[in-house]
Amino acid sequence: MPDAELVLRSTRVITPDGTRAASVTVAGGTITAVLPYDAPLPGGARLEDLGDDVLLPGLVDTHVHVNDPGRAEWEGFWTATRAAAAGGITTLIDMPLNSLPPTTTVEHLRTKRRVAADKAHVDVGFWGGALPDNVEDLRPLHEAGVFGFKAFLSPSGVDEFPHLDRERLARSLAETASFGGLLIVHAEDPHRLAAAPQHGGPKYADFLASRPRDAEDSAVAHLVEQARRRDARVHVLHLSSSDALPLIAAAKAEGVRVTAETCPHYLTLTAEEVPDGASEFKCCPPIREAANQDLLWQALADGTIDCVVTDHSPSTADLKTDDFSTAWGGISGLQLSLPAVWTEARRRGHGLDDVVRWMSAHTARLAGLDGLKGAIAPGRDADFAVLAPEETFTVDPAALQHRNRVTAYAGRTLYGVVRSTWLRGRRVVGDGEFTEPGGRLLTRPR
Ligand SMILES: [Zn+2]
Repeated sequence: MPDAELVLRSTRVITPDGTRAASVTVAGGTITAVLPYDAPLPGGARLEDLGDDVLLPGLVDTHVHVNDPGRAEWEGFWTATRAAAAGGITTLIDMPLNSLPPTTTVEHLRTKRRVAADKAHVDVGFWGGALPDNVEDLRPLHEAGVFGFKAFLSPSGVDEFPHLDRERLARSLAETASFGGLLIVHAEDPHRLAAAPQHGGPKYADFLASRPRDAEDSAVAHLVEQARRRDARVHVLHLSSSDALPLIAAAKAEGVRVTAETCPHYLTLTAEEVPDGASEFKCCPPIREAANQDLLWQALADGTIDCVVTDHSPSTADLKTDDFSTAWGGISGLQLSLPAVWTEARRRGHGLDDVVRWMSAHTARLAGLDGLKGAIAPGRDADFAVLAPEETFTVDPAALQHRNRVTAYAGRTLYGVVRSTWLRGRRVVGDGEFTEPGGRLLTRPR
């Protein structure tokens, strides 16, 4: 194999050692070297000169609900992976629920892989699901290559994916710990939710009161305690309550194997600005107050929160009614996550390298993909996003690749235009033109 078939050159390349002018050489879909900007072009290599546009590692989004098969009218592998590519995401890991079947047995995993196979414009992996009655399926799923297991501690929103009570959580954790697996958890305490006022209707304040912070705090505390007791590896999904941050920080300091993520909507939207009846803003746990948001940003900066993932969870428009208690709970944001987070990060004085750490390096590490993804470094897959970070655009739902174009970001002006996205050295989208799907179905590296 030659040293380089392709060279991407930019005055701003984001590498693990900082941002600098460089020429990145690619052969066989892998990064072979990061050379000085003006290094002579290796013989036979094609040059892609990106000028001042930023070259960053393709994002790794470990929290996406593709809903295919079974609820493909909500999203689907074709549209989800095109939206991902358009947004600079080169790897996504699909959540085990909302598809029918859910990814809770090896047979179901095979079905999902079959459906995804010809539709993936980016690389796709799968989480398994931990249900009250499938403990004996966890190890076979682990061996079949799922990246870990998702569990709910409160009702999930779909009947076929019941939540774990405390006894079942303990049993699932004992099982995943026995083979070194990862349990990723929707942490809201069902008893605290049941005790909260449930008014229903279109008022956002009522919805927010129905999903209080203490429901998250109590569930996170219990999860951390279980992880400590069993030395099990756990990950807190979509953290919204800043009140849970001190106990996560303390657990980490103590050596408990816990990590946490938050989402673009918690970092960029606030409860104060959600219009009544606007259920495109509904998700669980909910978008909270501006003061809460400030603390989430602080926790990203100090490492208490490890990563930012979309929790892209769309539905058809008819399920997004104006009653917050019955509308589908999920925010659609796959294609917009990079510009949304970058816009707010920039405003708060963070660099694009911070965004890359939260949305690519750390998510790759969470999934155990850090030998392959998440950095511009020799030996990694040549997955890139090319971004014009100072350029702005106004979100036009009609320009989204999502199957359903309901979005909480409509009309917002965001910084960061994704010029092109590259997967293993091949441009998968550039100037709005997509190539044929060439994504791979990933299994957890051993
Ligand atoms: Zn989710």
